[in-house]
Amino acid sequence: MEGGLMTKRQLVWCTQCNVLTLFSPLDRTPEYRNQKGEWEIEERDDQATFMETHRRHHLEELHVVANSFISRQNHAEPVKTSYFEVTNGRQRFVVKKSRKSVLDPQRYEIIPGKLHLTLRKPSIDGLAIQRELERVFSPHQISSRKIHGFVQGFADAVAHLDPKKLKQAPFESRNPSKRYFVLDERLLPKVLKSSSTSLTKKEAKLLDEFFQKNLEEPFLMPVAVVEFEIQKRGKNGEAEIKAA
Ligand SMILES: [Zn+2]
Repeated sequence: MEGGLMTKRQLVWCTQCNVLTLFSPLDRTPEYRNQKGEWEIEERDDQATFMETHRRHHLEELHVVANSFISRQNHAEPVKTSYFEVTNGRQRFVVKKSRKSVLDPQRYEIIPGKLHLTLRKPSIDGLAIQRELERVFSPHQISSRKIHGFVQGFADAVAHLDPKKLKQAPFESRNPSKRYFVLDERLLPKVLKSSSTSLTKKEAKLLDEFFQKNLEEPFLMPVAVVEFEIQKRGKNGEAEIKAA
């Protein structure tokens, strides 16, 4: 890697010390401190410190592999563990990013290998849907018992869907390990007509209208959990599976 100043975010790995750091333009921002009523400016430059510590070591710049970010926690969670893939142009690695508290800096750990993602069977939040339907429709329109039967039928139908054939929802999930899918328009008529729900034509029409109006509401969408594991690269290059 060539030396010099960095102006954008950059992941740099010292292969000798096995230390990974993320440089960002913020590293060069001075810190302002209020000392006994007077402002003090402390110049800081974490990049220069890193470059000094690892002078003459072999440094490599790593590039993040697009769409490889995964975590079990929400994006907005300040203290979390997440994983993503990077490449130095020849080999892939998994980076584990974590910290113990909001006061700690992010830690980066590099693991030779790749991330293996598996999509589980999709499901719906039956309880949330049942509550919403009971709120929208009076018992005279559709009874609780029939709503319950319908939600069960809907949940069963969704559980049989192949997540690989579903269309991803047009928004980013708050949790990277949960994927939302657009409801297939052929699914609902099947559930409404199935004998187990025993809906009258009028009841089926009300539910159909409700779904048409709310198709883009995340609480109605099938969700699939993404399981992930790290496939470590062994000494001889063979894959070795380890849970993340
Ligand atoms: Zn070093």
